[in-house]
Amino acid sequence: MRFDNSYARLPAHMFARVLPTPVAAPGLIAVNPHLAAEMGLDPQVLSTPDWIAVFAGNRVPDGADPLAQAYAGHQFGNWVPQLGDGRAILLGEHLGPDGRRWDIQLKGSGRTAFSRMGDGRAWVGPVIREYLVSEAMHALGVPTTRALAAVTTGDLVYREGAMPGAVLTRVATSHLRVGTFQFFAARQDLDALRRLTDMAIARHYPGADGALGLLQAATRAQAELVAQWMSLGFIHGVMNTDNAHVGGLTIDYGPCAFMDAYHPDRVFSSIDQMGRYAYANQPQIAVWNVAQLASCLLPLIHPDEAAAVEAATEVVHGYADLYQAAWLDRFRAKLGLASMQESDRQLVETLLGAMAGQGADFTRTFRGLAEGTAGAEFADPAALQAWIAGWHARLAAEGRSPAQAQAAMLRSNPAIIPRNHRIEAAITAAVAGDFAPFHALNAALAAPFDAPPDHPLRTAPIPAEIVRRTFCGT
Ligand code: AMP
Ligand code: MG
Repeated sequence: MRFDNSYARLPAHMFARVLPTPVAAPGLIAVNPHLAAEMGLDPQVLSTPDWIAVFAGNRVPDGADPLAQAYAGHQFGNWVPQLGDGRAILLGEHLGPDGRRWDIQLKGSGRTAFSRMGDGRAWVGPVIREYLVSEAMHALGVPTTRALAAVTTGDLVYREGAMPGAVLTRVATSHLRVGTFQFFAARQDLDALRRLTDMAIARHYPGADGALGLLQAATRAQAELVAQWMSLGFIHGVMNTDNAHVGGLTIDYGPCAFMDAYHPDRVFSSIDQMGRYAYANQPQIAVWNVAQLASCLLPLIHPDEAAAVEAATEVVHGYADLYQAAWLDRFRAKLGLASMQESDRQLVETLLGAMAGQGADFTRTFRGLAEGTAGAEFADPAALQAWIAGWHARLAAEGRSPAQAQAAMLRSNPAIIPRNHRIEAAITAAVAGDFAPFHALNAALAAPFDAPPDHPLRTAPIPAEIVRRTFCGT
Protein backbone atom coordinates (compact mmCIF):
# COMPACT_ATOMS: atom_id res chain seq x y z
CA MET A 1 0.00 0.00 0.00
CA ARG A 2 1.14 3.48 -0.86
CA PHE A 3 0.12 5.60 2.11
CA ASP A 4 -0.39 9.35 2.17
CA ASN A 5 -2.28 10.20 5.34
CA SER A 6 -3.98 13.55 4.92
CA TYR A 7 -6.34 12.99 7.86
CA ALA A 8 -3.40 12.39 10.20
CA ARG A 9 -1.98 15.76 9.12
CA LEU A 10 -5.08 17.61 10.34
CA PRO A 11 -4.84 19.36 13.73
CA ALA A 12 -4.42 16.76 16.46
CA HIS A 13 -7.73 17.48 18.20
CA MET A 14 -9.67 16.26 15.14
CA PHE A 15 -8.89 12.60 15.87
CA ALA A 16 -7.17 10.33 18.37
CA ARG A 17 -4.11 8.32 17.41
CA VAL A 18 -4.42 4.66 18.40
CA LEU A 19 -2.89 1.36 17.40
CA PRO A 20 -5.05 -1.67 16.66
CA THR A 21 -5.11 -4.16 19.55
CA PRO A 22 -3.46 -7.44 18.50
CA VAL A 23 -5.57 -10.61 18.38
CA ALA A 24 -4.78 -14.22 19.25
CA ALA A 25 -4.81 -16.04 15.93
CA PRO A 26 -5.55 -14.22 12.65
CA GLY A 27 -7.28 -16.33 10.01
CA LEU A 28 -8.31 -15.24 6.54
CA ILE A 29 -12.00 -15.25 5.63
CA ALA A 30 -11.70 -13.37 2.35
CA VAL A 31 -9.73 -10.86 0.32
CA ASN A 32 -11.74 -9.03 -2.34
CA PRO A 33 -9.87 -9.51 -5.62
CA HIS A 34 -12.04 -7.06 -7.62
CA LEU A 35 -11.55 -4.22 -5.18
CA ALA A 36 -7.86 -5.03 -4.72
CA ALA A 37 -7.40 -4.71 -8.49
CA GLU A 38 -9.20 -1.34 -8.51
CA MET A 39 -6.83 -0.17 -5.82
CA GLY A 40 -3.75 -1.41 -7.65
CA LEU A 41 -3.08 -4.13 -5.08
CA ASP A 42 -2.30 -7.78 -5.65
CA PRO A 43 -4.90 -10.03 -3.98
CA GLN A 44 -2.35 -12.86 -3.73
CA VAL A 45 -0.02 -10.66 -1.74
CA LEU A 46 -2.91 -9.49 0.44
CA SER A 47 -3.63 -13.14 1.25
CA THR A 48 -0.15 -13.82 2.70
CA PRO A 49 0.38 -14.14 6.48
CA ASP A 50 2.00 -10.67 6.65
CA TRP A 51 -1.12 -9.02 5.26
CA ILE A 52 -3.55 -11.23 7.17
CA ALA A 53 -1.70 -9.93 10.24
CA VAL A 54 -2.33 -6.37 9.03
CA PHE A 55 -6.05 -7.03 8.51
CA ALA A 56 -6.25 -8.50 12.02
CA GLY A 57 -4.48 -5.50 13.56
CA ASN A 58 -1.39 -7.49 14.57
CA ARG A 59 0.98 -5.63 12.27
CA VAL A 60 0.93 -1.98 11.22
CA PRO A 61 2.13 -1.63 7.63
CA ASP A 62 4.90 0.81 6.70
CA GLY A 63 3.56 4.28 6.10
CA ALA A 64 0.32 3.81 8.05
CA ASP A 65 -0.55 6.31 10.80
CA PRO A 66 -3.50 4.74 12.63
CA LEU A 67 -6.16 6.92 14.22
CA ALA A 68 -9.81 7.08 15.22
CA GLN A 69 -11.87 9.93 13.76
CA ALA A 70 -13.97 12.18 15.99
CA TYR A 71 -17.62 12.69 15.08
CA ALA A 72 -20.95 13.50 16.65
CA GLY A 73 -24.46 12.85 15.40
CA HIS A 74 -28.19 12.77 15.75
CA GLN A 75 -29.20 9.22 16.61
CA PHE A 76 -32.91 8.64 15.94
CA GLY A 77 -33.22 12.44 16.07
CA ASN A 78 -31.45 12.84 19.43
CA TRP A 79 -28.27 14.90 19.56
CA VAL A 80 -25.16 13.05 20.77
CA PRO A 81 -22.23 15.50 20.94
CA GLN A 82 -19.53 12.83 20.90
CA LEU A 83 -19.55 9.51 19.10
CA GLY A 84 -16.42 8.95 17.05
CA ASP A 85 -14.89 5.73 15.81
CA GLY A 86 -15.30 3.43 18.76
CA ARG A 87 -14.71 0.24 16.85
CA ALA A 88 -12.96 1.37 13.68
CA ILE A 89 -9.38 2.49 13.17
CA LEU A 90 -8.25 4.36 10.08
CA LEU A 91 -4.90 2.79 9.19
CA GLY A 92 -4.22 5.45 6.58
CA GLU A 93 -5.02 6.52 3.03
CA HIS A 94 -3.76 4.45 0.13
CA LEU A 95 -3.15 6.17 -3.20
CA GLY A 96 -4.18 3.95 -6.09
CA PRO A 97 -2.39 3.94 -9.45
CA ASP A 98 -5.17 6.12 -10.92
CA GLY A 99 -4.63 8.73 -8.18
CA ARG A 100 -7.75 7.70 -6.25
CA ARG A 101 -7.42 8.00 -2.49
CA TRP A 102 -8.75 5.14 -0.39
CA ASP A 103 -9.30 5.16 3.37
CA ILE A 104 -8.26 1.82 4.84
CA GLN A 105 -10.16 1.14 8.05
CA LEU A 106 -10.09 -1.84 10.36
CA LYS A 107 -13.53 -2.32 11.87
CA GLY A 108 -13.49 -4.35 15.07
CA SER A 109 -9.81 -3.89 15.87
CA GLY A 110 -10.04 -2.83 19.49
CA ARG A 111 -10.84 0.09 21.73
CA THR A 112 -10.20 3.73 20.87
CA ALA A 113 -10.65 7.01 22.73
CA PHE A 114 -14.26 6.98 21.46
CA SER A 115 -15.28 3.47 22.52
CA ARG A 116 -17.30 4.63 25.53
CA MET A 117 -18.70 1.40 27.07
CA GLY A 118 -17.96 -0.73 23.99
CA ASP A 119 -15.21 -3.30 23.52
CA GLY A 120 -14.16 -2.03 20.10
CA ARG A 121 -14.63 -5.51 18.71
CA ALA A 122 -16.86 -7.18 16.15
CA TRP A 123 -18.00 -10.76 15.81
CA VAL A 124 -18.09 -12.73 12.64
CA GLY A 125 -21.84 -12.07 12.03
CA PRO A 126 -21.80 -8.32 11.36
CA VAL A 127 -18.46 -8.61 9.57
CA ILE A 128 -19.86 -11.11 7.07
CA ARG A 129 -23.07 -9.14 6.81
CA GLU A 130 -21.32 -5.88 5.93
CA TYR A 131 -18.99 -7.64 3.50
CA LEU A 132 -21.89 -9.27 1.65
CA VAL A 133 -24.26 -6.32 1.57
CA SER A 134 -21.74 -3.56 0.81
CA GLU A 135 -20.24 -5.56 -2.05
CA ALA A 136 -23.73 -6.44 -3.32
CA MET A 137 -24.59 -2.74 -3.29
CA HIS A 138 -21.48 -2.01 -5.32
CA ALA A 139 -22.43 -4.70 -7.85
CA LEU A 140 -25.89 -3.10 -8.07
CA GLY A 141 -24.22 0.19 -8.97
CA VAL A 142 -24.90 1.95 -5.66
CA PRO A 143 -22.21 4.24 -4.20
CA THR A 144 -20.98 2.56 -1.02
CA THR A 145 -18.13 1.84 1.33
CA ARG A 146 -16.43 -1.37 0.26
CA ALA A 147 -15.00 -4.50 1.85
CA LEU A 148 -11.36 -5.27 1.05
CA ALA A 149 -10.86 -8.13 3.49
CA ALA A 150 -12.31 -10.02 6.42
CA VAL A 151 -10.42 -12.05 8.99
CA THR A 152 -11.22 -14.06 12.09
CA THR A 153 -9.30 -13.20 15.24
CA GLY A 154 -9.21 -16.42 17.24
CA ASP A 155 -10.64 -14.42 20.15
CA LEU A 156 -14.16 -14.57 21.55
CA VAL A 157 -16.41 -11.53 21.59
CA TYR A 158 -19.18 -11.42 24.18
CA ARG A 159 -22.64 -10.41 22.94
CA GLU A 160 -25.77 -12.49 23.59
CA GLY A 161 -23.23 -15.22 24.14
CA ALA A 162 -19.58 -15.84 23.28
CA MET A 163 -19.12 -15.32 19.53
CA PRO A 164 -16.08 -15.75 17.27
CA GLY A 165 -14.34 -12.42 16.76
CA ALA A 166 -13.61 -10.94 13.34
CA VAL A 167 -12.31 -7.75 11.72
CA LEU A 168 -13.55 -6.14 8.51
CA THR A 169 -11.23 -4.04 6.37
CA ARG A 170 -13.55 -1.30 5.20
CA VAL A 171 -12.38 0.83 2.33
CA ALA A 172 -13.94 4.10 1.20
CA THR A 173 -13.16 7.24 -0.76
CA SER A 174 -13.51 8.94 2.65
CA HIS A 175 -15.23 8.53 5.98
CA LEU A 176 -16.54 12.10 6.14
CA ARG A 177 -19.97 12.02 7.77
CA VAL A 178 -22.48 14.77 8.42
CA GLY A 179 -21.67 13.95 12.04
CA THR A 180 -17.99 14.78 11.47
CA PHE A 181 -19.01 18.34 10.58
CA GLN A 182 -21.48 18.43 13.47
CA PHE A 183 -18.77 17.54 15.99
CA PHE A 184 -16.80 20.68 15.12
CA ALA A 185 -19.79 22.95 14.45
CA ALA A 186 -21.04 22.22 17.96
CA ARG A 187 -17.65 23.35 19.28
CA GLN A 188 -17.66 26.45 17.02
CA ASP A 189 -14.36 25.25 15.57
CA LEU A 190 -14.33 27.12 12.27
CA ASP A 191 -10.80 26.13 11.42
CA ALA A 192 -11.69 22.43 11.60
CA LEU A 193 -14.86 23.02 9.56
CA ARG A 194 -12.83 24.77 6.87
CA ARG A 195 -10.39 21.88 6.71
CA LEU A 196 -13.18 19.30 6.49
CA THR A 197 -14.87 21.34 3.77
CA ASP A 198 -11.67 21.49 1.74
CA MET A 199 -11.10 17.77 2.22
CA ALA A 200 -14.67 16.84 1.25
CA ILE A 201 -14.42 18.95 -1.90
CA ALA A 202 -11.02 17.52 -2.85
CA ARG A 203 -12.09 13.93 -2.26
CA HIS A 204 -15.66 13.97 -3.57
CA TYR A 205 -16.58 17.08 -5.50
CA PRO A 206 -13.54 18.62 -7.19
CA GLY A 207 -14.71 21.86 -8.74
CA ALA A 208 -17.34 22.56 -6.07
CA ASP A 209 -17.12 26.19 -4.99
CA GLY A 210 -16.62 26.59 -1.26
CA ALA A 211 -18.99 25.54 1.52
CA LEU A 212 -22.12 26.38 -0.47
CA GLY A 213 -20.80 24.37 -3.41
CA LEU A 214 -20.14 21.46 -1.07
CA LEU A 215 -23.68 21.70 0.30
CA GLN A 216 -25.14 21.73 -3.21
CA ALA A 217 -23.11 18.71 -4.27
CA ALA A 218 -23.83 16.76 -1.08
CA THR A 219 -27.54 17.53 -1.37
CA ARG A 220 -27.64 16.21 -4.91
CA ALA A 221 -25.61 13.14 -3.97
CA GLN A 222 -27.97 12.28 -1.09
CA ALA A 223 -31.02 12.75 -3.33
CA GLU A 224 -29.58 10.43 -5.96
CA LEU A 225 -28.39 7.88 -3.41
CA VAL A 226 -31.74 7.58 -1.67
CA ALA A 227 -33.57 7.42 -5.01
CA GLN A 228 -31.36 4.49 -5.86
CA TRP A 229 -32.08 2.78 -2.53
CA MET A 230 -35.80 3.25 -3.12
CA SER A 231 -35.56 1.75 -6.60
CA LEU A 232 -33.99 -1.39 -5.11
CA GLY A 233 -36.30 -1.72 -2.11
CA PHE A 234 -33.33 -1.08 0.18
CA ILE A 235 -34.02 0.06 3.73
CA HIS A 236 -30.92 1.45 5.44
CA GLY A 237 -32.43 1.13 8.90
CA VAL A 238 -30.27 3.60 10.81
CA MET A 239 -30.04 6.88 8.91
CA ASN A 240 -28.52 8.81 11.80
CA THR A 241 -26.40 11.83 10.82
CA ASP A 242 -23.26 9.94 11.84
CA ASN A 243 -24.24 7.39 9.19
CA ALA A 244 -24.93 10.04 6.53
CA HIS A 245 -21.92 10.24 4.24
CA VAL A 246 -21.02 13.68 2.89
CA GLY A 247 -19.76 12.07 -0.32
CA GLY A 248 -23.08 10.31 -0.88
CA LEU A 249 -21.90 6.78 -0.15
CA THR A 250 -23.99 4.18 1.61
CA ILE A 251 -22.30 3.67 4.98
CA ASP A 252 -23.07 1.57 8.05
CA TYR A 253 -24.62 -1.78 7.27
CA GLY A 254 -26.24 -2.44 10.63
CA PRO A 255 -29.95 -3.22 10.63
CA CYS A 256 -30.42 -2.74 6.88
CA ALA A 257 -32.49 -5.01 4.65
CA PHE A 258 -33.87 -5.39 1.17
CA MET A 259 -37.63 -5.42 1.22
CA ASP A 260 -39.46 -8.64 0.40
CA ALA A 261 -43.24 -7.93 0.20
CA TYR A 262 -43.60 -4.32 -0.87
CA HIS A 263 -45.15 -1.90 1.56
CA PRO A 264 -44.13 1.75 1.99
CA ASP A 265 -44.24 1.47 5.80
CA ARG A 266 -41.85 -1.46 5.99
CA VAL A 267 -39.26 -1.41 8.79
CA PHE A 268 -36.95 -4.34 9.46
CA SER A 269 -34.82 -3.08 12.29
CA SER A 270 -36.06 -4.23 15.67
CA ILE A 271 -34.51 -1.09 17.23
CA ASP A 272 -36.52 1.29 15.02
CA GLN A 273 -39.71 1.00 17.04
CA MET A 274 -41.20 4.30 15.85
CA GLY A 275 -40.56 3.53 12.19
CA ARG A 276 -38.48 6.69 11.81
CA TYR A 277 -36.36 5.03 9.15
CA ALA A 278 -39.16 3.13 7.37
CA TYR A 279 -38.81 2.66 3.60
CA ALA A 280 -41.04 5.58 2.62
CA ASN A 281 -39.49 7.95 5.18
CA GLN A 282 -35.96 7.64 3.80
CA PRO A 283 -36.19 10.56 1.32
CA GLN A 284 -37.34 12.94 4.07
CA ILE A 285 -34.75 11.73 6.55
CA ALA A 286 -32.00 12.30 3.99
CA VAL A 287 -33.01 15.95 3.59
CA TRP A 288 -33.27 16.31 7.36
CA ASN A 289 -29.66 15.10 7.51
CA VAL A 290 -28.66 17.48 4.72
CA ALA A 291 -30.23 20.32 6.70
CA GLN A 292 -27.98 19.42 9.64
CA LEU A 293 -24.97 19.67 7.33
CA ALA A 294 -26.26 23.02 6.08
CA SER A 295 -26.48 24.43 9.58
CA CYS A 296 -22.89 23.31 10.27
CA LEU A 297 -21.66 25.10 7.16
CA LEU A 298 -23.49 28.41 7.74
CA PRO A 299 -20.49 30.35 9.12
CA LEU A 300 -18.46 29.31 6.07
CA ILE A 301 -21.19 30.17 3.58
CA HIS A 302 -21.46 33.86 4.41
CA PRO A 303 -20.20 36.09 7.24
CA ASP A 304 -23.67 37.57 7.53
CA GLU A 305 -25.84 34.93 9.19
CA ALA A 306 -29.09 35.96 7.51
CA ALA A 307 -27.46 35.80 4.09
CA ALA A 308 -25.94 32.41 4.91
CA VAL A 309 -29.29 31.04 6.07
CA GLU A 310 -30.99 32.28 2.94
CA ALA A 311 -28.43 30.70 0.60
CA ALA A 312 -28.34 27.40 2.51
CA THR A 313 -32.12 27.21 2.76
CA GLU A 314 -32.45 27.58 -0.97
CA VAL A 315 -30.09 24.63 -1.50
CA VAL A 316 -31.88 22.44 1.04
CA HIS A 317 -35.25 23.30 -0.50
CA GLY A 318 -33.84 22.23 -3.86
CA TYR A 319 -33.52 18.68 -2.57
CA ALA A 320 -37.18 17.81 -3.20
CA ASP A 321 -36.96 18.42 -6.94
CA LEU A 322 -33.61 16.65 -7.21
CA TYR A 323 -34.98 13.65 -5.36
CA GLN A 324 -38.24 13.49 -7.31
CA ALA A 325 -36.38 13.66 -10.61
CA ALA A 326 -33.87 11.00 -9.56
CA TRP A 327 -36.64 8.75 -8.27
CA LEU A 328 -38.61 9.02 -11.50
CA ASP A 329 -35.50 8.38 -13.60
CA ARG A 330 -34.78 5.20 -11.65
CA PHE A 331 -38.34 3.87 -11.89
CA ARG A 332 -38.68 4.83 -15.55
CA ALA A 333 -35.61 2.72 -16.23
CA LYS A 334 -37.13 -0.11 -14.19
CA LEU A 335 -40.17 0.00 -16.50
CA GLY A 336 -38.10 0.25 -19.68
CA LEU A 337 -39.23 3.81 -20.45
CA ALA A 338 -36.69 5.86 -22.39
CA SER A 339 -38.65 9.12 -22.69
CA MET A 340 -40.52 11.27 -20.15
CA GLN A 341 -44.24 11.79 -19.88
CA GLU A 342 -46.41 13.64 -17.38
CA SER A 343 -48.29 10.47 -16.51
CA ASP A 344 -45.19 8.38 -15.63
CA ARG A 345 -45.29 9.08 -11.91
CA GLN A 346 -48.91 7.91 -11.84
CA LEU A 347 -47.98 4.77 -13.76
CA VAL A 348 -45.29 3.86 -11.20
CA GLU A 349 -47.48 4.71 -8.23
CA THR A 350 -50.37 2.63 -9.50
CA LEU A 351 -48.06 -0.35 -9.81
CA LEU A 352 -46.61 0.17 -6.33
CA GLY A 353 -50.13 0.53 -4.92
CA ALA A 354 -51.15 -2.78 -6.48
CA MET A 355 -48.00 -4.43 -5.14
CA ALA A 356 -48.69 -3.16 -1.63
CA GLY A 357 -52.28 -4.37 -1.78
CA GLN A 358 -51.20 -7.85 -2.86
CA GLY A 359 -48.04 -8.27 -0.82
CA ALA A 360 -45.99 -8.67 -4.00
CA ASP A 361 -42.25 -9.20 -3.56
CA PHE A 362 -40.44 -6.02 -4.63
CA THR A 363 -37.46 -7.56 -6.43
CA ARG A 364 -39.34 -10.46 -8.01
CA THR A 365 -42.16 -8.24 -9.29
CA PHE A 366 -39.89 -5.83 -11.15
CA ARG A 367 -37.69 -8.60 -12.47
CA GLY A 368 -40.86 -10.47 -13.36
CA LEU A 369 -42.05 -7.53 -15.46
CA ALA A 370 -38.81 -7.82 -17.44
CA GLU A 371 -39.24 -11.57 -17.84
CA GLY A 372 -43.02 -11.74 -18.27
CA THR A 373 -43.63 -13.55 -14.97
CA ALA A 374 -44.69 -10.75 -12.62
CA GLY A 375 -48.22 -12.15 -12.26
CA ALA A 376 -46.82 -14.94 -10.10
CA GLU A 377 -46.07 -12.40 -7.35
CA PHE A 378 -49.71 -11.34 -7.08
CA ALA A 379 -52.33 -13.25 -5.10
CA ASP A 380 -54.80 -11.91 -7.68
CA PRO A 381 -52.96 -11.58 -11.02
CA ALA A 382 -55.96 -9.69 -12.45
CA ALA A 383 -54.86 -6.70 -10.36
CA LEU A 384 -51.70 -6.60 -12.45
CA GLN A 385 -53.29 -7.25 -15.84
CA ALA A 386 -55.06 -3.89 -16.08
CA TRP A 387 -51.86 -2.11 -15.16
CA ILE A 388 -49.85 -4.04 -17.77
CA ALA A 389 -52.27 -2.93 -20.48
CA GLY A 390 -51.62 0.72 -19.53
CA TRP A 391 -47.89 0.10 -19.39
CA HIS A 392 -47.86 -1.45 -22.86
CA ALA A 393 -49.83 1.54 -24.19
CA ARG A 394 -47.27 3.86 -22.61
CA LEU A 395 -44.43 1.90 -24.26
CA ALA A 396 -46.22 2.07 -27.62
CA ALA A 397 -46.39 5.85 -27.24
CA GLU A 398 -42.59 5.97 -27.43
CA GLY A 399 -42.40 3.38 -30.18
CA ARG A 400 -40.98 0.64 -27.97
CA SER A 401 -42.29 -2.88 -28.05
CA PRO A 402 -42.66 -4.71 -24.73
CA ALA A 403 -39.86 -7.04 -25.84
CA GLN A 404 -37.46 -4.13 -26.46
CA ALA A 405 -38.33 -2.58 -23.13
CA GLN A 406 -37.93 -5.88 -21.31
CA ALA A 407 -34.43 -6.43 -22.71
CA ALA A 408 -33.38 -3.04 -21.32
CA MET A 409 -35.14 -3.70 -18.01
CA LEU A 410 -32.92 -6.71 -17.30
CA ARG A 411 -30.12 -4.19 -16.56
CA SER A 412 -32.21 -2.11 -14.14
CA ASN A 413 -34.00 -4.82 -12.18
CA PRO A 414 -31.74 -7.23 -10.30
CA ALA A 415 -32.60 -10.90 -10.26
CA ILE A 416 -30.97 -11.46 -6.89
CA ILE A 417 -30.37 -9.31 -3.84
CA PRO A 418 -28.88 -10.16 -0.42
CA ARG A 419 -31.99 -11.31 1.40
CA ASN A 420 -31.63 -11.33 5.13
CA HIS A 421 -32.45 -15.02 5.65
CA ARG A 422 -29.61 -15.93 3.26
CA ILE A 423 -27.19 -13.71 5.12
CA GLU A 424 -28.34 -15.28 8.39
CA ALA A 425 -27.73 -18.77 6.97
CA ALA A 426 -24.21 -17.74 5.90
CA ILE A 427 -23.56 -16.35 9.38
CA THR A 428 -24.84 -19.47 11.13
CA ALA A 429 -22.53 -21.62 9.01
CA ALA A 430 -19.60 -19.25 9.59
CA VAL A 431 -20.04 -19.42 13.36
CA ALA A 432 -19.74 -23.19 12.99
CA GLY A 433 -16.52 -22.67 11.00
CA ASP A 434 -17.97 -23.19 7.52
CA PHE A 435 -17.46 -20.17 5.24
CA ALA A 436 -18.59 -21.93 2.04
CA PRO A 437 -22.15 -20.44 2.14
CA PHE A 438 -20.64 -16.96 2.61
CA HIS A 439 -18.38 -17.42 -0.42
CA ALA A 440 -21.19 -18.86 -2.55
CA LEU A 441 -23.54 -16.01 -1.70
CA ASN A 442 -20.83 -13.43 -2.27
CA ALA A 443 -20.01 -14.90 -5.68
CA ALA A 444 -23.67 -14.94 -6.75
CA LEU A 445 -24.24 -11.35 -5.62
CA ALA A 446 -21.33 -10.13 -7.74
CA ALA A 447 -23.54 -10.50 -10.86
CA PRO A 448 -27.01 -9.60 -9.59
CA PHE A 449 -28.53 -8.90 -13.02
CA ASP A 450 -27.38 -12.12 -14.64
CA ALA A 451 -28.78 -14.99 -12.56
CA PRO A 452 -31.08 -17.13 -14.72
CA PRO A 453 -34.68 -17.83 -13.61
CA ASP A 454 -33.77 -21.30 -12.30
CA HIS A 455 -30.97 -19.98 -10.05
CA PRO A 456 -31.57 -21.43 -6.55
CA LEU A 457 -31.51 -17.95 -5.00
CA ARG A 458 -34.45 -17.05 -7.25
CA THR A 459 -36.64 -20.12 -6.96
CA ALA A 460 -36.53 -20.69 -3.20
CA PRO A 461 -39.54 -19.58 -1.14
CA ILE A 462 -38.98 -16.34 0.75
CA PRO A 463 -39.59 -16.46 4.50
CA ALA A 464 -40.83 -13.26 6.18
CA GLU A 465 -37.81 -11.05 6.82
CA ILE A 466 -36.89 -9.33 10.03
CA VAL A 467 -33.50 -8.14 11.20
CA ARG A 468 -33.87 -9.41 14.74
CA ARG A 469 -30.61 -8.37 16.27
CA THR A 470 -29.65 -4.76 16.27
CA PHE A 471 -26.12 -5.45 15.03
CA CYS A 472 -25.31 -2.16 16.76
CA GLY A 473 -22.81 -2.37 19.55
CA THR A 474 -21.49 -5.37 17.69
P1 AMP B 1 -22.93 2.40 14.85
O1 AMP B 1 -24.09 1.71 15.41
O2 AMP B 1 -21.96 1.48 14.16
O3 AMP B 1 -23.29 3.57 13.97
O4 AMP B 1 -22.13 2.97 16.09
C1 AMP B 1 -22.57 4.05 16.86
C2 AMP B 1 -21.45 4.48 17.78
O5 AMP B 1 -21.15 3.44 18.72
C3 AMP B 1 -20.14 4.77 17.07
O6 AMP B 1 -19.48 5.80 17.80
C4 AMP B 1 -19.42 3.47 17.19
O7 AMP B 1 -18.02 3.61 17.03
C5 AMP B 1 -19.79 3.03 18.60
N1 AMP B 1 -19.71 1.58 18.78
C6 AMP B 1 -20.54 0.66 18.26
N2 AMP B 1 -20.16 -0.59 18.62
C7 AMP B 1 -19.05 -0.46 19.37
C8 AMP B 1 -18.17 -1.38 20.05
N3 AMP B 1 -18.37 -2.70 20.01
N4 AMP B 1 -17.14 -0.86 20.73
C9 AMP B 1 -16.93 0.46 20.77
N5 AMP B 1 -17.70 1.37 20.18
C10 AMP B 1 -18.76 0.94 19.48
MG1 MG C 1 -22.34 4.07 12.33
